Amino acid sequence: MNGTPDPAANDTISAIATPTGPGGIGIVRVSGPMAHAVVRKLFRPRNPAILWTPQRLYYGHIIDPETREALDEVLVSLMQSPHSYTCEDYAEINSHGGRVVLSKILQLTVDAGARLAGPGEFTLRAYLNGRIDLTQAEAVMDLIQSRSEQGLLMASRQIQGGLRKEIASLRETAVAVLARVETAIDFMDEEGVGFDSSELLEAILDGLKRPIEGFLAAHRRRVWVEGVGTVLAGRVNAGKSSLLNRLIDEERAIVTSSPGTTRDVIETLLNLDGVPLRLMDTAGFRRARNAAERIGLEHSRRELEEADLILVVIDQSRALTTEDLELLDRCKGREHLVIRNKIDLPPRIGRAGEELLAASTSVRVSALTGEGMEGLRTAIKNTVLSAENRGACSDIAPNLRHKQALETAAAAFDRALEGIRSENPPEIVAFELQTGIDALGGIIGEVSHEAVLEEIFSRFCIGK
Ligand code: GDP
Repeated sequence: MNGTPDPAANDTISAIATPTGPGGIGIVRVSGPMAHAVVRKLFRPRNPAILWTPQRLYYGHIIDPETREALDEVLVSLMQSPHSYTCEDYAEINSHGGRVVLSKILQLTVDAGARLAGPGEFTLRAYLNGRIDLTQAEAVMDLIQSRSEQGLLMASRQIQGGLRKEIASLRETAVAVLARVETAIDFMDEEGVGFDSSELLEAILDGLKRPIEGFLAAHRRRVWVEGVGTVLAGRVNAGKSSLLNRLIDEERAIVTSSPGTTRDVIETLLNLDGVPLRLMDTAGFRRARNAAERIGLEHSRRELEEADLILVVIDQSRALTTEDLELLDRCKGREHLVIRNKIDLPPRIGRAGEELLAASTSVRVSALTGEGMEGLRTAIKNTVLSAENRGACSDIAPNLRHKQALETAAAAFDRALEGIRSENPPEIVAFELQTGIDALGGIIGEVSHEAVLEEIFSRFCIGK
């Protein structure tokens, strides 16, 4: 694997676990068979007679073994396999924060026999050693990156095994259904033994299909963890930048840059009373005049397609243009909110325009004077919260990987249903059920492929 180191490796790894930059405390963590030996080689306890009880903190100094120089005052703890984050022998050095001191301690652990950990390698080991399943590992990342308090709570419930339990129980149901079909195959030659198709149909529909539909709908709750992907769309001069700036000024916004395929997308994180928005900057929807603009427009289009929420900005001081109409058309069936901007100017939308806008929820604002901004915020919050299945906090918020696996399972169970209805040989029904069972197993990591592990853990930071 490229991003993620070899999961079969049984060596000792080390990494700085706290963010880079100055800080009161920084942590270097070490895991693997030599973890205790590595740290003990570098640590001079204040009390030389300590007994090294696991899970106790010991005070002392980190010593450079070559110079015998004390580098920093630290607290050290050792944990014994399997009672640690990774299930391996494990140690933590709490030193002062700061890049130089932490890098030096990290280097000393490497000199003493550890190697630098790759992204997510501690969590990968926790998974490979059976302490957590894949959904729990993914939730660790969600917890770190959650964009709202509700997302944090959901990630925490997932770490405690909320999603794992549900998927494992669904898988058990599918295995029980498969067992019935297989019994029918085994006894097929004996007269009078086949499967009771109506009972099986019911078991698949109620026991498998219905819960999967519920889980798929719950995918929408991911917005609490990831933020609501929001696009401000509208023609040039409608007032998108002015509105964005006003929202940024009035809220505590964090502007970040998230890597896109051909250019970085500037994202602004806004938290509207606990509702996290990821406002994406788009190039607008004018006609492209050159290649660079075309690329920009292509991006805008993709962002629009992928957005969870579209804020359509209309300049109500002018008649609607074909561009406005095209945009409104694209919003059909999508979650959107129309913002009628420039209410400080006389309205010129006209009756025909009004009729067109009547189909959508709209709010009236002036980005120039700030009038109506409070109403806009409330309308955005209501639109997000009223979307089906978003409001309630729950243990279940499948991410994209889970969603795709659930869709694969649902399609396989559909084929199994069809097979039973068309009285196909039970072997074919069994094959489809097994395909669905494998897809469910993939969610929790019972069947895991290297590529999947790489995809998941390469997104982790080093030290996690
Ligand atoms: P964008 O191209 O959609 O990003 O539009 P801008 O935010 O750059 O605004 C275009 C022009 O409209 C600028 O001159 C703004 O000052 C002006 N503008 C934006 N919002 C309002 C508004 O609410 N009222 C008035 N009168 N002018 C506005």
